[in-house]
Amino acid sequence: MHDVAADFLCHLPTPLQPLPWRGLPLDGKLLLFERNTGLNALLEGEETAHLHRLAPRTLLVAVTNACNLKCPFCYRPPEARSLWRYDSLMTFCEEAAAWGVLEVAFGGGEPMLFPRWGEFICELYERTPLAINFTTNGTLLTEPFLKQIAGRYGQIRLSLYEDNAWAETVALLVRCGARFGVNWLITPAALRTIEKTFAQLLSLGVRDVLFLSYKGNEFPEMHLSPDEARRFAAFLQRAHTALGGAVQLKLDVCWGESLAGVPSLFGTGDCAAADDFLSITSDRQVKPCSFHEVAVPFETIDDLQSYWQAQRAARLPAPLGGCARLPQRGLGEKGGVSHAIIPLAAIQQQPQR
Ligand code: SF4
Repeated sequence: MHDVAADFLCHLPTPLQPLPWRGLPLDGKLLLFERNTGLNALLEGEETAHLHRLAPRTLLVAVTNACNLKCPFCYRPPEARSLWRYDSLMTFCEEAAAWGVLEVAFGGGEPMLFPRWGEFICELYERTPLAINFTTNGTLLTEPFLKQIAGRYGQIRLSLYEDNAWAETVALLVRCGARFGVNWLITPAALRTIEKTFAQLLSLGVRDVLFLSYKGNEFPEMHLSPDEARRFAAFLQRAHTALGGAVQLKLDVCWGESLAGVPSLFGTGDCAAADDFLSITSDRQVKPCSFHEVAVPFETIDDLQSYWQAQRAARLPAPLGGCARLPQRGLGEKGGVSHAIIPLAAIQQQPQR
């Protein structure tokens, strides 16, 4: 399939042109992405004015619902089945790549429990141009596994929990030269020791930190109050000023506008759920993001494309207190949570906004 990137490489600086770029047409722009370096280049001008978005950038795929930990705040539905198998997941990813998707971000459950996970990553890297990322609690990572997948993935995202011995896992990842970052849930409790924990992360060799917000309704005490959000924003500003580009400081999209004064690379005014990314469940359903309750079963990649076309402009909020699409971020509200599964046909009939 012709990749639109080839027509635009002449606009890049000469040393960058030989990289194996892929292009994702956006509305009036072109995003160029290179999976081995993680480089992005956004082109916008007369030459790109005719382009239209044809696919989401990323699919978030829960490869299994099984997990070896029992975190009380976990949002995955315990009753959901694990329907993906090696071959069905491979075929699905190949079709997603042909659609134009640039990245897959695997999660779960715990992806390390997916049978032949290392082999799957290696084969997927060979068979598709996709960037392959996965989020793990890290407890099952080993040196042989990291050697097996070396050079064939984009990033490993390590979740920091109280009970997953993350410091030891970080040491393993650093020792093996793995490409990784940490995912850190910022609650009021985490905020109280944020400077100390952050210093520990840096001393261990972490250079990429994604700060996550709590989204759920079950534990209102895990949401930051406005005052705590201000303190967190002040911490981020201090860290950014002190570290500059030496450490990547990332915020999940659900923080929305709640962290006043924090410098941002991308200020799009929306989280882009269902447009830039879709969430695929372990039981082969699709949702705008992992925190939506309404999931739609799908069979084929055509089903998924129809869902994306129908949903991308709707900008539906998740019915959770931490969703940035809710008025005032909905903090402290109890959303009217629905577990209903609606048929694809009903979604396809919804008018686009
Ligand atoms: S819809 Fe809400 S919960 Fe989902 S990604 Fe967007 S802001 Fe976050």
